[in-house]
Amino acid sequence: MTLKLYNTLTRRLDAFEPLAPPRVTVYMCGPTVYNYAHIGNFRTFVFGDLLRRYLEYSGFDVLFIMNLTDVDDRTIKAAAERGVSLTDHTEPFVRAFFEDRDYLRIRPADVYPRATDYVAPMVDLVERLLERGVAYVGDDGSVYYAVERFPTYGQLSQLDRRELRPGARVATDEYSKEDVRDFALWKAAADQDEQVGAAWDAPFGRGRPGWHLECSAMALTEIRQRFGVETLDIHAGGVDLVFPHHENEIAQSEGATGRPFARFWLHGEFLFIRGTKMSKRFGNTLTARDLKEEGLDPAAVRMLLFSTHYRQPLNFTDDALDAAVEGVRRIGDFRARLEHAAEESAGGSSGRADDPPVVRTFLAEFREAMDDDLSAPRAIGALFSFIRAANRELDDGGWGPAEARAGLTALDGVMAVLDLVPGPAPVAEEVKRWVEGLIADRARARADRDFARADAIRDELLAQGVELEDTPDGTRWRRRG
Ligand code: AMP
Ligand code: ZN
Repeated sequence: MTLKLYNTLTRRLDAFEPLAPPRVTVYMCGPTVYNYAHIGNFRTFVFGDLLRRYLEYSGFDVLFIMNLTDVDDRTIKAAAERGVSLTDHTEPFVRAFFEDRDYLRIRPADVYPRATDYVAPMVDLVERLLERGVAYVGDDGSVYYAVERFPTYGQLSQLDRRELRPGARVATDEYSKEDVRDFALWKAAADQDEQVGAAWDAPFGRGRPGWHLECSAMALTEIRQRFGVETLDIHAGGVDLVFPHHENEIAQSEGATGRPFARFWLHGEFLFIRGTKMSKRFGNTLTARDLKEEGLDPAAVRMLLFSTHYRQPLNFTDDALDAAVEGVRRIGDFRARLEHAAEESAGGSSGRADDPPVVRTFLAEFREAMDDDLSAPRAIGALFSFIRAANRELDDGGWGPAEARAGLTALDGVMAVLDLVPGPAPVAEEVKRWVEGLIADRARARADRDFARADAIRDELLAQGVELEDTPDGTRWRRRG
């Protein structure tokens, strides 16, 4: 059994073999930190998390790199509109991104290169491309990539078969380019760039990096420094990045190194909200923090995201969310039952050599599903079959503590990949604020010796299922039941 991954480069499932096993280098295009990342962005990042965790489960030694795009058109525009510097604008969104990542239980990448920290390698890369004659300085002082001089351009997106719509994107810099397909590596500094502190000196003129250049330079720098290689095992991102972003990353990197940039290209499909594309205009952008505010368990969000294969569009609906909440509740209950059964007469029977058949079937099915292009929906199917079968064994007395322990170990091993066990019952922020407000009112009433009012508040909370406990450190509360 080997892991097969759908490679956009070959348009088929390829058996995954890294360049230098057991090491696997993965680069995933990260967030543009001009705003809060939305749940669509996080669908892609949770897919990256799944990939990374399953590679580790399979015994690989993963270096996971995710960049932070902290200088590009959007970040500059947003900073300029607020009249603040680029860093002042992006820094809070970097922090928010990390908070949201932790909420969604996405394991931190090994390194988060920020574009603004890698301007020197970006400048080097442009120089190398100029030396090799695949780049030129335009009349406007920007540096462009000469697509015509990179014969395999379009391979990833199969652009040769795609219509290059003339005039589809009439850029202001149109006349400085030799060919409409050429793209900017380095953009000559504009007033707005200077205003927000997004301009750097370079031998070919003051300016700022283009977005595509950033990823090439950061990815190459990270793997070259660590391993002395210039080829990634896996490059991943959302499907919208295939063209032009990833096509251009390939042209830049391979144009400079002469080596394949990435061996596997993986692309996650989009998330839609109730059937429509998320957009500010429709007022349907949903962020991770919106879900957190609602008190939603991150396990349920992951469950919802994993219920659709990463290469299928996913429709985020309330019904799907309800089903995910119910699904993780079952997983949590099952885990608690196993834990309880495993503890009975602990230390008693031991020395079992083999896992019970139900456990072996589960682990085999899980692996088979995940080896098939990370089929999380099938893996979840196997998980629920396991839950049903193991519950039957526990009901019938077929399983003792040793079997329960084996079941628990298997479950926790799989959860190290999927991470779907719910945490303690979450409380919506709104509820928390309401309860804490009333506790403060009650403390004031008691300080005023208005005990009737204090008791009324306690009763009101109790009627809503909230119990209070007065301790020397203040009043604590918890939900009943
Ligand atoms: P950005 O912050 O816009 O640079 O995007 C970060 C990542 O999110 C990229 O890999 C995009 O492809 C991905 N992405 C953007 N919108 C969606 C969406 N609606 N569903 C899934 N992934 C998305
Ligand atoms: Zn990128």
